[in-house]
This record gives sequence, C-alpha cells and structure tokens, in this order.
Amino acid sequence: MAVLSEALIAFCLAVFIGTFVEYWVHRLMHAGVVYGKNHAKHHQEGTGQGWFGEFRGYFLPALVIIWLGFVVSPAAGIGFALGGLAQAAWSAYAHQLQHERPELVFWMPRPVHHLHHKKKMWHHNFGISFDFWDRVFGTYKPAGWEGTPTGGLTAYVSLFTIKWF
Ligand SMILES: [Zn+2]
Ligand SMILES: [Zn+2]
Repeated sequence: MAVLSEALIAFCLAVFIGTFVEYWVHRLMHAGVVYGKNHAKHHQEGTGQGWFGEFRGYFLPALVIIWLGFVVSPAAGIGFALGGLAQAAWSAYAHQLQHERPELVFWMPRPVHHLHHKKKMWHHNFGISFDFWDRVFGTYKPAGWEGTPTGGLTAYVSLFTIKWF
C-alpha cells in the first residue's frame, strides 16, 4: 500500500509540475526567450498540428527530467514517469481540442488557449490544459467567450474526433 501511495503522489506531482512548465514555457515563448519565431508562426497559422505532433513536442523535452523519481524509489520513478506521460498527452489533447472545437472544453469555465489565440493575446492566458496558473500569476483574462458548452451524445463523440495525427 505504501508503494502504491508513493507512486500516486509522484504521479500527481508530475502532473502538477507539468502544468507549471507548460504555463512558463508558453509564457517565455511570448517573451521571446524560447522558440519565439516558431510560436509566432503558430499564432499566424492558428491551427494545431494534431495530437501526436503536439505530444511529441511536449514529451521529448520532458525526457530530461521524467526519470527523476527513480532517484527516490522505483515506485516514485514509475509514478512520476507515468504522470509526466499523462500530462504531456493531456496537454496535447487540450491544445488540439481548443483549436478545433473550443466549445467542447468542459473542464474549464472558458477555453483559455482558444481565447489566447482568438483575441490575439500576447500577455494573457498562457495555460493550455488548465487555467489555474494564469489565475495564480495574474495573467488570466476571461474576455471574449460567448460560447456555450455543447452537450449530448454528438458532443461526446466529437471529443474523440480531433485530428490525432
Ligand atoms: Zn501563444
Ligand atoms: Zn495554440
């Protein structure tokens, strides 16, 4: 049991750290510190590259730190690595969905990444999978969302019909 809870804590920690890194890397892109040109191009195009392309972009750099849990124990190592993998997959999904069908984002009051693009925000809404770091660091901007969440079976099916590759 102790092993399971250790793995679970490590998993959650990796997800938490993943959202923090996601927020700051995106914010630093807008400050021109990292991938500034690439990111400006992404803003010009205004489309996601598909789930797999996004996932690769998030997961490969994460390989630098994703093994760190093994310094603590095998359980922490596996939990942390799986958490990192899950967060990269979730961020990639959240990114693609907000570019394709922002009205289907059910886990945030407003699809922050969609608004970030649509309103050409350069200083706000850096979160992708979640909006809480924007709230913590004061960059949250709810402006411009009139979309109503689409319910029902069609919406549920649409959640799986994003561009995956
Ligand atoms: Zn951006
Ligand atoms: Zn985007």
